[in-house]
Amino acid sequence: TRRTIIAGNWKMNTRAGEAAELAKGVAGAVGENPAVEVAVCPPAVYLSVVADVLAGSAVGLGAQNLYPAEDGAFTGEVNASMLRDVGCRYVILGHSERRALLGETDAEVSEKLSAALAGNLVPIVCVGETLDDREGGKTESVVETQLKGSLKGLDEARAAGVVIAYEPVWAIGTGKTASPEQAEEVHAFIRKLLGELFGSEVAEQIRIQYGGSVKPGNAKDLLGQPNIDGALVGGASLKVDDFVAIIQAGC
Ligand code: 13P
Repeated sequence: TRRTIIAGNWKMNTRAGEAAELAKGVAGAVGENPAVEVAVCPPAVYLSVVADVLAGSAVGLGAQNLYPAEDGAFTGEVNASMLRDVGCRYVILGHSERRALLGETDAEVSEKLSAALAGNLVPIVCVGETLDDREGGKTESVVETQLKGSLKGLDEARAAGVVIAYEPVWAIGTGKTASPEQAEEVHAFIRKLLGELFGSEVAEQIRIQYGGSVKPGNAKDLLGQPNIDGALVGGASLKVDDFVAIIQAGC
């Protein structure tokens, strides 16, 4: 059985004070032994602030990106070792906003994945089709290309520890959620692909989160699907009450 994982992707939001308040609210509501795994992913500059607030709590800390190199001349970048140093356990990789706005490729995501695993971070690897892809009947081929490209070189022994996030681009920040059936269909497809890559035993262990306009009102139905093992929450993770309600829907 896969442990449900609910993560908040704060994206480029909050200031230090708000970040601390938000983390405090989540940690307080989640308590010491939550039935689900919970993480928050603040902007890199506030990771330390949030780490201090989360110290001793059951809420994990995640980053939104990393640069896949050891220390050196990489102006503006942050590596896995630094993320571990400030208390991160997770890192989001290949988010659609980075793919679209910054041209991040599957090959880059696969390098980042290796760096994350080498640095003892749990990677959350994002894949998902655009509205054009979906309407053109290309959802499966796009997701397959992204998944295989992003996981390239991942060895079977480490695959079980990777988290996949299926985030249809048309559902992100739009208020349009994939229906539980639409999401489940793609999640089941992703698990089938994972089985081809790593064998069915490993595929059964890999958690696949859904992301895209997850809200307190739709979380339970989505999380009730057999292949939906968690949520990657954007907008609703910026409000303590909404995020906590989503966590409770997963319990
Ligand atoms: P929203 O929940 O705001 O749609 O964002 C989803 C997302 O991109 C999480 O990574």
